[in-house]
Amino acid sequence: MPIREYIAVDPTASCKFCKERFEQVEPMDSPPISLCPECGNKVQRQISAPQVGGSQSGFDSRAKSAGFSKLEKLGAGEYEKKY
Ligand SMILES: [Zn+2]
Repeated sequence: MPIREYIAVDPTASCKFCKERFEQVEPMDSPPISLCPECGNKVQRQISAPQVGGSQSGFDSRAKSAGFSKLEKLGAGEYEKKY
């Protein structure tokens, strides 16, 4: 089941739970929630930023053609120049 992220629409009218951002595990076919399950205030769905190092087809070739080098994270403090 996918994890969806939500955040309070109005941070001043929110509880601790939805003020920052919270994750909901929901069935794929269920509609996104619009109210915080804790306080009932309005929440909006957050689209999480793509993970660094994740599969982003197209990004690598675009970065390459733009002349950027890509540094691959190997471990703690280690980077390998990919191209
Ligand atoms: Zn809340």
